[in-house]
Amino acid sequence: MTNLVLFGPPGSGKGTQAAFLIEKYNLIHISTGDLFRYEMSNDTSLGQEAKAYMAKGELVPDSVTIGMLRNKVEKHPDAQGFIFDGFPRTIPQAEALDALLISMGTEVSGLLSLDVGEAEIVQRILKRGETSGRSDDNDEVTVRKRIAVYKSETAPVFDHYALTHKSHSVNGLGTVEEIAGRLSEAVDALRKH
Ligand code: ADP
Repeated sequence: MTNLVLFGPPGSGKGTQAAFLIEKYNLIHISTGDLFRYEMSNDTSLGQEAKAYMAKGELVPDSVTIGMLRNKVEKHPDAQGFIFDGFPRTIPQAEALDALLISMGTEVSGLLSLDVGEAEIVQRILKRGETSGRSDDNDEVTVRKRIAVYKSETAPVFDHYALTHKSHSVNGLGTVEEIAGRLSEAVDALRKH
């Protein structure tokens, strides 16, 4: 299996690039942000629980997020691999993912981190907020909070996978096609090993 963690700060282009990579490598895309938004739009109890955290730019608690992720993975027993987008966002989430994949006889193949500077991502998210209907994209205070949470809680996940030489940085500036090309090169290199 090819199991990719698509990593990077909010607004770094993970969703856009995931759409390309799932086609090219025939993988299942799992975005925890999309899963939460789906639950919210259906007003489920999970959605209601996630809503307050998301609106403030905070992380939804690991206990909720990990269970949701596991359920989703288990719905695809025949998958050739997964792209995890927006997960893991904390060290406990990374440890839970590692344990889940081990139980399936597989592992994370690599983590690809889209490098984009802070000024650029704030601009991108506020622009997305004009049309996305996402309240967490509209307000600069919430956007800055998400970036702060990324630095303190999520960035250590890069180091977690670097310990086993699985973390790779990819320049996230340029056209969608240029970035897709860089990611493809990185994925092809991973799959050779
Ligand atoms: P972005 O990458 O632009 O921040 P996402 O759609 O990935 O957007 O996430 C939106 C929000 O959903 C996050 O700010 C957070 O509140 C919640 N969320 C998404 N994934 C996770 C996760 N793995 N753990 C905790 N909260 C999450």
